[in-house]
Amino acid sequence: MEIRIVPLSEGEKKAKFKDESQLGFGKIFTDRMLLIEWKVGQGWVDARIKKYEPFQLDPAALVLHYAQEIFEGLKAYRWKDGTIALFRPEMNARRFNHSADRLCMPEIPEELFVSGIEQLVAAEREWVPGAEGTSLYIRPAMIAVEPHVGIKPSDHYYFYVILSPVGAYYANGFNPVKIMVEDHYVRATPGGTGEAKTGGNYASSLKAGLEAKKKGFDQVLWLDGVHKRYIEEVGSMNMFFAYGDTIVTAPLEGSILNGITRDSVLTLAKSLNLKVEERRIDVNDLMADLKSGKITEAFGSGTAAVVTPVGTLSYAGDTVQVGNGGVGKYTQVLYDTLTGIQTGKIEDRFGWIRKI
Ligand SMILES: *Cc1c(COP(=O)(O)O)cnc(C)c1O
Repeated sequence: MEIRIVPLSEGEKKAKFKDESQLGFGKIFTDRMLLIEWKVGQGWVDARIKKYEPFQLDPAALVLHYAQEIFEGLKAYRWKDGTIALFRPEMNARRFNHSADRLCMPEIPEELFVSGIEQLVAAEREWVPGAEGTSLYIRPAMIAVEPHVGIKPSDHYYFYVILSPVGAYYANGFNPVKIMVEDHYVRATPGGTGEAKTGGNYASSLKAGLEAKKKGFDQVLWLDGVHKRYIEEVGSMNMFFAYGDTIVTAPLEGSILNGITRDSVLTLAKSLNLKVEERRIDVNDLMADLKSGKITEAFGSGTAAVVTPVGTLSYAGDTVQVGNGGVGKYTQVLYDTLTGIQTGKIEDRFGWIRKI
């Protein structure tokens, strides 16, 4: 499908952020966006790269009432030699369609998803920052825009992509975060929407997040919704624990998000001769193993958070330090290898990089 480029006048271009070390996360957006519509009986129509500007939405638009919405997150990196590279975008396309299926939304051809992003990033390439730790965050989303009060799948959707130059997701960068295991609220249940990247999952997590912040924690770690016993994941990160040179993470059983960084970390860990296990972890065992020192490291993984070390974990009022509270050695190696591949400093032996 041909993507039309709507010209932008010089006057419509925003001033670029000067100090890339102060970018923060998700507050600045570039000049243009990609917009493609889907209409019942017509399919995908009117693909265009146009000025970034507010939508005019009918107040009865289905998304505003019943949260028929999905999204994705990936990044473009500027290499030292000027190359602009995407990391595994076809995986985001596949997961987006998995989310679409769960929310009764139309699937988008993978090549349209990827080539739309490539053309948008190419048009906005001067917005890709190059300083250490920075990237261009890419946010594809789909919303139900049909005006209708009454629960049903929409007959009209916007698929759109916006871009945001970003620094570190956590304000203090690559430093250990404090995590609280949530023992009251639940994020997802088997048969629910935990495996889909859909807005409702995050709206329903806000309360737990706020209460944890009040107690001095950065994020909550969710337990399974049935037994409130097995470790699942953090708000926007999958979780890993190192038992010496064995890296353990929760299995994909339908209620946690199938992270692309999670998959990449598992692959990298194996290539670094670490052992990996995908298995259930009982929170009581977890606390005991942290106290006894069997668990030496803990970290989260996600596109936004990359690899984020966890220094403190708390459950039911019991707070323990992970290892020595600093950045573990495998956490560091995995971070360095992953970001090295993403930024072109380490050869990509896995076919993950897609140059624009
Ligand atoms: C996006 C997300 C992740 C991380 O997925 P990546 O593909 O690695 O970015 C993990 N958990 C949740 C709940 C998420 O929304």
